[in-house]
Amino acid sequence: MSVIELTPVGAPQTVGAPVLQARDLTLIYQGDREAHLAVDRVSLDVAEGERLVLLGPSGCGKSTILKAVAGFLPPASGTISLRGKPVTGPGPDRIVVFQEFDQLLPWKTALGNVMFPLIRARKLARAEAQDRAEDALARVGLARARDQFPHELSGGMKQRVAIARALAMRPDVLLMDEPFAALDALTRTRLQADLLRVVEEVGATLIFVTHSIDEAVLIGTRLHLLSAHPGRTLATLDTNGVAQGTAAFTRMVREVHELLFPQAEAADV
Ligand code: ADP
Repeated sequence: MSVIELTPVGAPQTVGAPVLQARDLTLIYQGDREAHLAVDRVSLDVAEGERLVLLGPSGCGKSTILKAVAGFLPPASGTISLRGKPVTGPGPDRIVVFQEFDQLLPWKTALGNVMFPLIRARKLARAEAQDRAEDALARVGLARARDQFPHELSGGMKQRVAIARALAMRPDVLLMDEPFAALDALTRTRLQADLLRVVEEVGATLIFVTHSIDEAVLIGTRLHLLSAHPGRTLATLDTNGVAQGTAAFTRMVREVHELLFPQAEAADV
């Protein structure tokens, strides 16, 4: 029996009211001489507390969707709304964590990096920002590294600071663009587990981009599968909290693979 419950394409379903909604999103990069269609009529619904994973082959438009949701790329057509209001640009209600280790301010300590946007964008008083930043660093296991500068931190620790900084802002939606892709396998496994624990503790809503099927099934409560370039919705499916290391997990990974790469399945026949 299949472990996957597919939702028909074009009819995203979520529990509760969506925090973020995208409808028929078409995203185009306008070059000097020609336009490049990156994403073709994709619709998303992300409910409160949900972890939606965008999954698809390299170049299918996952990062581009995240860019548009973050407000850095206006849709060529379609709409994006956050709590019912149109997204027209970047804002502190949507924070992105990137893959690159250089996303921290090199001249600020771990604590300073987490406090900085709290004071600037959330306009918190210094003492309040510090309390919140210390709490966020403790949650990601970095209480003792608070006074260290980025150049003194490992890649994994830098990603932890970036996650703490994002969570401390208490965004409506936390956007993560392959945040663990540049880490070694052991560190990646630990960060995945810690991320899951922390987002559950604080009830964060997540859109997470990856091209790893295993990571998608592990992190996501729901997966949104995209076709190869240009990105179109192939299917959305619930992971039903399937636990890593179980037969159900392995089965789901295999079924997702077959949905993403149906030609491989056909080739086996
Ligand atoms: P993914 O995140 O799934 O790997 P991207 O969203 O980065 O894919 O890219 C989607 C498509 O848009 C690809 O064909 C890529 O080459 C193209 N693209 C990405 N960024 C730009 C850009 N700044 N200008 C022009 N084309 C871009």
